[in-house]
Amino acid sequence: MTGPFEMTRDELAAVLGDEPGYRTEQVWRGLWDRGAWPQDMTELPRELRERLSRVVVPTLQEVSRSVSADGQTTKWLWQMADGALVETVLMFYPGRATVCVSSQAGCAMSCSFCATGQRGFTRHLTVGEIVEQVAAARRAALPRRLGNVVFMGMGEPLANYERTWAAVQRIHDHLGISARRITVSTVGVVPGIRRLAAEVLPVNLAVSLHAARDELRNAIVPLNRRYPLSVLMGACADYVAAKNRRLSFEWALIDSVNDSPRDAAELAELALPVGAHVNLIPLNPTPGYLGRGTPPAGVAAFAQDLLARGVNATVRANRGTDIDAACGQLAARKGPATAPASIGRRRVPH
Ligand code: SAH
Repeated sequence: MTGPFEMTRDELAAVLGDEPGYRTEQVWRGLWDRGAWPQDMTELPRELRERLSRVVVPTLQEVSRSVSADGQTTKWLWQMADGALVETVLMFYPGRATVCVSSQAGCAMSCSFCATGQRGFTRHLTVGEIVEQVAAARRAALPRRLGNVVFMGMGEPLANYERTWAAVQRIHDHLGISARRITVSTVGVVPGIRRLAAEVLPVNLAVSLHAARDELRNAIVPLNRRYPLSVLMGACADYVAAKNRRLSFEWALIDSVNDSPRDAAELAELALPVGAHVNLIPLNPTPGYLGRGTPPAGVAAFAQDLLARGVNATVRANRGTDIDAACGQLAARKGPATAPASIGRRRVPH
């Protein structure tokens, strides 16, 4: 099934059948402007609402919604029509909100330290399933404005290129979020970066680097064996040249693995020529990886080292660790709610 957020206006009009033409616009506006489902569209006659709610149905069913103890991070676990599970994270910042969306159920990239990679690949998400995450988060964020969309949830967006890109276009065209507020994150799928560079919409690119020499990166990010650093950096340089957008490198700091002065020097050598901004993330714990996050003093020293070398670097505040919603922790497991402030399991459309 296509899903309401994958339908064109014409497809929606076809669903409405003999209804007057302005109904299509009403339902379209309800879906896209308010993230409303037919049963909430009180502007429609009751009979039509009832008929529509049997055909314009969510592709995501909320299994649970967890809220971090500070109330600033929400994580959804969704179940899709075939039973596959996926997660979405909404984060509040002063005056705005950012949603972190998934592009696949699971992931085939097998990065050793990432819970999604440890769990394996289930399937690609459809365009409708990706966009519906954003629509749901935008509605839940109210009255805050959903400012940013980051493709940093489960999955490798550039391994699901067509659907990811069609979702980006819909988020841009119909949810009105500008390309400069959309970030696609990749572990380094070089052909995907090259395709992205050829698109019209200039989205931000984030590359999950984590190691700046092939020997180490091969060990923790297996895709590096296919696209080694020299090839990846070539694609990054071309992206920056083509798009003039900010490039960032993600770096999960792992105690005694990639947090030495040598690592900082190697990272600086890659970041400076392409003007990349470095996001440092102390490694979050995951069940299948023994490495630990670099302690705070080491994180600060690594950041200082980069800054001294002229690299633009910031430490990313960890969000939602208490509800397994932080970077690399999305595993989409059912079971006892992990959240202290979980508001439980609901089986209602969002
Ligand atoms: N597959 C894409 C999108 C996922 S983004 C990508 O890799 O870019 C998720 C981010 O969290 C990536 O930067 C990933 O490397 C990082 N990450 C994975 N496991 C982590 C962990 N345990 N601690 C901190 N960051 C982690």
